[in-house]
Amino acid sequence: MQLQNVFVPLKIRKGKNYERIKRELESGNLHPKVMLMLYDVGYWVWRKHHKAIYVTHAYRSQKKQEEIYGKGTSKKSSHMYWRAVDIIVDGADDALYREMEAYLDGRYPYHGSEGYSTSDPHDVGLGMHLHIQVGYNEPFNKGFFEKRS
Ligand SMILES: [Zn+2]
Repeated sequence: MQLQNVFVPLKIRKGKNYERIKRELESGNLHPKVMLMLYDVGYWVWRKHHKAIYVTHAYRSQKKQEEIYGKGTSKKSSHMYWRAVDIIVDGADDALYREMEAYLDGRYPYHGSEGYSTSDPHDVGLGMHLHIQVGYNEPFNKGFFEKRS
């Protein structure tokens, strides 16, 4: 799927990460529910606030995980399994992030570890953003892990 063929204000900032994030979004590797939620919340924010959402992070390698949480960390992230994306909205305040969280959590129950939820506005050192994830009890389509060309 080419992102530009779908009219949703889903954007990626121009810059050093642009090509990589675009490739990840178009790879078909992200969990389908992640894509669904992206378009849903993207449309909702545009409709309600006339603002576009930007995807700032999708897939995360072990190397990147260690840059964030320290060398040799055993901490895993749903980003490492193509089950999460991070989004921001230009000029959004905490209230807007809370509103997006309530919207997504209300529509998409989380099926994974106890105590976690579908969306979580937070800052782990990369700035305030909304983390959106799909729990490990949500299956992937058969063949998901097969290499795509
Ligand atoms: Zn995240």
